[in-house]
Amino acid sequence: METKSVPEYFGSLVFDDRQMRSRLSAKVYTSLRKTIDQGKKIDPKVAEAVAQAMKEWALEKGATHYTHWFQPLTGVTAEKHDSFISPSLDGNVIMEFSGKELIQGEPDASSFPTGGIRATFEARGYTAWDPTSYAFIKDKTLCIPTAFCSYGGEALDKKTPLLRSMEALNKQALRILHLFGNDNVKNVRTSVGPEQEYFLITKEMYDKRPDLRFTGRTLYGSRSPKGQEMDDHYFGVIKPRVQEFMTDLNEELWKLGVLAKTEHNEVAPAQHELAPIYSTTNIATDQNQLMMEIMQKVAAKHGLVCLLHEKPFAGVNGSGKHNNWSMATDTGINLLSPGDTPYENAQFLLFLCAVIKAVDDYQDLLRISVATAGNDHRLGANEAPPAIISVFLGDELSAILDAIEQDKPYNAAEQKIMKLGVDVLPAFPRDNTDRNRTSPFAFTGNKFEFRSLGSSNSIACANIMLNAAVAESLKIYADRLEGAEDFEKTLHEMIRKTISDHKRILFNGNGYDDAWVKEATEVRGLCNYRTTPDCMPHLLDEKNVKMLTSQGVFTEAEMKSRCDIMLENYCKQVRIEANTMIDMANKQILPAIECYADKLSRCVSAKKAIAAGLACNYESAVVSRLSVLADQIYERSNELAKAILKLEDAANIIEESAAIRDTLLPKMGELRSAADEAETLVSSECWPFPSYGDLLFGVR
Ligand code: ADP
Ligand code: MG
Repeated sequence: METKSVPEYFGSLVFDDRQMRSRLSAKVYTSLRKTIDQGKKIDPKVAEAVAQAMKEWALEKGATHYTHWFQPLTGVTAEKHDSFISPSLDGNVIMEFSGKELIQGEPDASSFPTGGIRATFEARGYTAWDPTSYAFIKDKTLCIPTAFCSYGGEALDKKTPLLRSMEALNKQALRILHLFGNDNVKNVRTSVGPEQEYFLITKEMYDKRPDLRFTGRTLYGSRSPKGQEMDDHYFGVIKPRVQEFMTDLNEELWKLGVLAKTEHNEVAPAQHELAPIYSTTNIATDQNQLMMEIMQKVAAKHGLVCLLHEKPFAGVNGSGKHNNWSMATDTGINLLSPGDTPYENAQFLLFLCAVIKAVDDYQDLLRISVATAGNDHRLGANEAPPAIISVFLGDELSAILDAIEQDKPYNAAEQKIMKLGVDVLPAFPRDNTDRNRTSPFAFTGNKFEFRSLGSSNSIACANIMLNAAVAESLKIYADRLEGAEDFEKTLHEMIRKTISDHKRILFNGNGYDDAWVKEATEVRGLCNYRTTPDCMPHLLDEKNVKMLTSQGVFTEAEMKSRCDIMLENYCKQVRIEANTMIDMANKQILPAIECYADKLSRCVSAKKAIAAGLACNYESAVVSRLSVLADQIYERSNELAKAILKLEDAANIIEESAAIRDTLLPKMGELRSAADEAETLVSSECWPFPSYGDLLFGVR
């Protein structure tokens, strides 16, 4: 345990601005800052100097290796370690690192998913330094955050399109801000604070469950007698062992410069949350990946396992990730914060409307951005936002928009019609913190909270779509306003039109209500894509390709490849689950049932030997039922195996994913229900895995 105070060790493993300032010459530092702040191309001489300073710093910290750290489309981060060593003439080694090695790397990336991109273009990939995200040290290795592209320039990762989407939004937001006279604003960045949920269970129990080890979720398991019904875990007292884990985790994250801020117990037993203070989107994305990795490492040190799967336990709340998102200028203005003057409020309303329009026009893209096999179990279930995307604004802001749309007074007492840009706009309520937890996309006073993300998702995808869609709204607004004869009149009409065209996406009610599903789909015509195979093909809908390519976020080839990769990931994931279920049924569950039935049968013989007339009702009933269930498990597991074989008939990945949704998943459910019933009848001594009760209440 460190005895140093937090400010003394915060960021100690990061080559951050403090290190740059103290280790680089003024000239090199200024030039690097220009690259970081304004995206200026880096001069090779500057890169060389930075590489030397970085190497010296890393060696002082005990690092022996360096790696380009990137985020391929597998969803996890990738690294390939190279040591700094280089042979010297006297037979010893020296530690070397060049500017070229800092800027660009060439991982042998042939086994990363590309969705066919590299087959049609170039065989190699390269990584390129993202100087806006600081390098850090992990496991004695200097990690350099990088983008990963093909030699043809196609993005093979999540960072490249994320950076492009941030640039697209920056460009359009600046146009709007300049129209409002904010000429001093040089750039607009999106910021994100991702709240991360996770489960902690003991390593000992985890090791006994092949389903957790192979798939991250339990594929079998009958309900625990106690679940989350008492609501006694949420914000409850943190258990000492968990507290020790959290303390250690915070320390590791702080050393890496991650602003881990709040931690608490979540709704389900064994479920917790960690939220950092927000930062610029690409940094927040890198840090969230790092946070997930460090959580798992620190858990292991404590004899625990951190489960990041969206739905590790059926019938218990799953884990999500809330993406708190806003836009801010380099001059420190949060564009989603209501202002003090009517003019500022008109600007705020325009940015607010841009988001509303973006979410309505591209509901499908937002849904797609959070689609995975794991998250399908969560969206639409009784704890997560529904698969239908809608926007919560709260009563007051909704009333303001209503008044604008209908040209009627907002405050009846004042009798003032709402006109923008003139002094009748009221002061807006600032602190209408939302407590509507059922909305997938909620305005929370000065930011939007997109809540549909799964706990294991990279937040990159959601933010790519969000940034791009908002950039598109802003572009449409800027095009119109720049050519307008009467700015205020055009502005007012545009805002009014946005409200009336897009109010179908606004919903302040209960998103878990069945009535909402009916209203949303039948009356309002909103999308309701329940599963990944339902939504993913829409990525390639004409309007989506048009928007994302014209915003420069993706090329059409990149979109096609991503659609394929996401569907492939889905298919692979569910196939592994199905195979694991069959394996567990045959090798563990059926033998356990037989073993227990045998015990009971022998007990009956023994009893009858003592007193021939004994009924042995209990034993007979259980053995009979177990016999029926064993047959069912056997048959259903065979059926499932056949269904897996039949997937070979699918003509393409879209068909295969649909077959998985329609045949594999229902058959897995049937197999599970027979096994789960058997679990309730077999003695816990004979049952081969820890129960839900053991798993959920095992960490003490
Ligand atoms: P909750 O009530 O949902 O727990 P908080 O108000 O504590 O939320 O904030 C949740 C997250 O939102 C934190 O990570 C916080 O840093 C982040 N956040 C706050 N302001 C912004 C902003 N302007 N942009 C992005 N994220 C923000
Ligand atoms: Mg929240």
